[in-house]
Amino acid sequence: MTPRPLFFENVPLAPLSTLEVGGKARLFSQLHSAEELPEILLRGEREGLPLFWLGGGSNLLFPDGLFQALVVRNHLRGVTPLPEGVEALSGTPLMSLVAWAARSGWSGLEPLAGIPGTLGGALSGNVGANGRELFDLVQELTLFREGRWERLSREGLSVSYRNGPFPPSTLFYHSCRLRLRREDPAVVRQRCREFILKRLEKIPGNPPKVKSAGSFFRNPTLPSGEKRAAGFLLERVGAKGMRVGGAGVSEKHANFLVNLGEATCADFLGLSDLLRERVKETFGVELQQEVLNAWEHLER
Ligand SMILES: Cc1cc2nc3c(=O)[nH]c(=O)nc-3n(C[C@H](O)[C@H](O)[C@H](O)COP(=O)(O)OP(=O)(O)OC[C@H]3O[C@@H](n4cnc5c(N)ncnc54)[C@H](O)[C@@H]3O)c2cc1C
Repeated sequence: MTPRPLFFENVPLAPLSTLEVGGKARLFSQLHSAEELPEILLRGEREGLPLFWLGGGSNLLFPDGLFQALVVRNHLRGVTPLPEGVEALSGTPLMSLVAWAARSGWSGLEPLAGIPGTLGGALSGNVGANGRELFDLVQELTLFREGRWERLSREGLSVSYRNGPFPPSTLFYHSCRLRLRREDPAVVRQRCREFILKRLEKIPGNPPKVKSAGSFFRNPTLPSGEKRAAGFLLERVGAKGMRVGGAGVSEKHANFLVNLGEATCADFLGLSDLLRERVKETFGVELQQEVLNAWEHLER
């Protein structure tokens, strides 16, 4: 029998994102099985609410007040080994997938060790670290778009720096196949450890201890054509330690905006504007947010 999804009204969003800001979702549900999708879609349609697919909430800013959407948290989890890699469901936390691969002697994911969130969010934003991106490993995607299931191979999909093949929230990523290679588990584990240690040296800390959404701005290209880390430019304009209300810039990493206590979404937007202005004045470049404003990414 098809499991029936449950729906909840006016659900607080702050605990569902690593920045821990935001008001309430008008409607909220959790996806535990692909068979629940039709009923969830139908309910959104009936209520006239756009859908918002939520993973780990580690790259998101939720609005203050009432978020007029049906927020669906993805709990589809699981990993299946294949002859040349793995197939994983999109709600699998990326960290669990990396740990599973290391334990099972599959190499390839190590540079991404320590990135929070789910595989679905990682596909949506083509996450990357240490010079590698998730789509370097993707072989095939299974997704639900415009009422249909589709299986797409990696060839023909165009991805770029922090952009998956499709705009955020225009579809639901169900699962993907990753091409990995066999290696001694001890060696893979050691490599993961090294990448995690390197990460911990650079960042102010992981959620929930430090409430951030990782790098707040994308790394820009200067008018001269030179590529620069957003953190470098922000540090140069004196961003470290700046704050608006409860939102502040980390003293350790100028591209990490953190919730210092009771920050609101408006605090983060105010701080983001201020930082963008300063960088524009000094370097002539418009910083783009890497963190997504949830209200700009609704599936209608
Ligand atoms: C401490 C810290 C460190 C970080 N380090 C890095 C880093 O090194 N590199 C990096 O690239 N990022 C980094 N991030 C950002 C973040 O972890 C990634 O972007 C992550 O992949 C987001 O996944 P999520 O499940 O949390 O997505 P969410 O934040 O829940 O959602 C992000 C977007 O993906 C969409 N989405 C989520 N799941 C699905 C789905 N199944 N189908 C369709 N759309 C979906 C959402 O609708 C939304 O538009 C970091 C964040 C933190 C807090």
